[in-house]
Amino acid sequence: MTSNSDCLFCKIVAGDIPADVVYESDTAVAFRDINPQAPTHVLVIPRKHIATLNDIEESDEALVGSLYSAAREIAAAEGIAEAGYRAVMNCNAAAGQTVFHIHLHVLGGRSLKWPPG
Ligand code: AMP
Ligand code: ZN
Repeated sequence: MTSNSDCLFCKIVAGDIPADVVYESDTAVAFRDINPQAPTHVLVIPRKHIATLNDIEESDEALVGSLYSAAREIAAAEGIAEAGYRAVMNCNAAAGQTVFHIHLHVLGGRSLKWPPG
């Protein structure tokens, strides 16, 4: 699986940096955000290193779909599926992306404002 030795989230996938992992599959890993913005704040990442949403290729469609399957299962496990939650991916600087390995933020457990800041 493609990985990047300089990438924080690749190191989490490899187990070289600890994380509070809540979900694992063949294609994805999810762990609690270190600086949570809601009672539930989980990051779902592909095991494969993809830097930004702009770098997703057609051949990654099933992989990206698996991130949403993970988000759905995590929301159910966290008890936020019915009340509602958000699954969002920031792309590049203007959206506030700080870690360049794609990740879905799964946020819930409180009322979320729209539009986001
Ligand atoms: P983004 O700004 O969309 O790139 O989101 C990156 C997220 O990664 C932020 O919400 C950070 O709090 C989170 N984060 C950074 N380092 C870690 C880490 N070691 N473990 C868990 N979450 C992290
Ligand atoms: Zn990576």
